Amino acid sequence: MKDLQPITFEGVDASKPLIIAGPCSAETEEQVLTTARELAGNGIKIFRAGIWKPRTKPGGFEGVGVEGLQWLKKVKEETGMFVSTEVATKQHVDAALEAGVNLLWIGARTSANPFAMQEIADALQDAGVDVPVLVKNPVNPDLELWIGAMQRIYNAGIRRIGAIHRGFSAYGKHLYRNLPQWHIPIELRRRMPQLPIICDPSHIGGKRELVASLSQQALDMGFDGLIIESHCDPDCAWSDKSQQVTPDVLNFILNTLVHRDATQSTESLTLLRQQIDGIDNELLEILNKRMRVSREIGQFKKEHRMPVLQAGRYDDIMQSRVKLAEDMGMSGDFMKKVLSAIHEESVRQQIEILNDRSK
Ligand code: PEP
Ligand code: MN
Repeated sequence: MKDLQPITFEGVDASKPLIIAGPCSAETEEQVLTTARELAGNGIKIFRAGIWKPRTKPGGFEGVGVEGLQWLKKVKEETGMFVSTEVATKQHVDAALEAGVNLLWIGARTSANPFAMQEIADALQDAGVDVPVLVKNPVNPDLELWIGAMQRIYNAGIRRIGAIHRGFSAYGKHLYRNLPQWHIPIELRRRMPQLPIICDPSHIGGKRELVASLSQQALDMGFDGLIIESHCDPDCAWSDKSQQVTPDVLNFILNTLVHRDATQSTESLTLLRQQIDGIDNELLEILNKRMRVSREIGQFKKEHRMPVLQAGRYDDIMQSRVKLAEDMGMSGDFMKKVLSAIHEESVRQQIEILNDRSK
């Protein structure tokens, strides 16, 4: 995919990050047009709205369907913005192109499915148009699957391709709705430096309070743009209400973002260092998770009047983990040091619980 072309739009400054904004879903003509007018008034040039919504469970709002395409047409005519929507089937591609949608994106559940990706790629090839296509990362953290999805689009003759990083699903409760795992898009950048990568802080964070800091992190890492959900009345949104921001809040966020010098981002040392930063963040989160479980064990031991230290268990952990580390090619001595430091902190935290009379 060496001959990819940049994704640019007439009248949109290509030297700045590409900003795409709009509601998670098109709900009503009024909601779409009100949001679009406010965004356009704040200088946003590319509008997004989901017309067909993939929902985890049946019964949720599944999008307004083709009717919404007429609203997008009105957005174009009235505000002059370019419009984009998500496609997941051949019918979606045909209908969106017919309605003059300027940019298509493929959702995270679709990019995880090679059959669906091939169907979309074939539809694009049959249509014979040169529309820019953004491919969200698959829900699962699989870089090869993500690249494979983009290759199918490329093989259909599309040259303006971009990736959207929207985070990865994980079981259980986390700060983020979808874990950023920054090292994955950074590895994508290292492997395909010519591919634009856009960050979707809305779906990573899942909460509007996280949008600004995630956007800044993405810019710091040299991402090429942001796709942010914005709704004229977020609390009443029919989908993803807790992560949407009003057009004015979005404007405030965009104005406070610091733009760094992008020239360094293609340098491979910088990219590798950014991967290290991302992995260290994950390491801290995992350590913290381990400490949380450890504290729960402490609470259990307290309730059952068991001693904090159980030597047999510690020896078993040591032996099995040291062996695992050696099998992975790390030094056993190093692993012993790491484990005993972790163990020391776990014991300290359990003792804290034991001494805490309020629990
Ligand atoms: C969306 O952009 O509204 C969406 C459905 O996103 P994702 O595919 O990332 O879940
Ligand atoms: Mn959404």
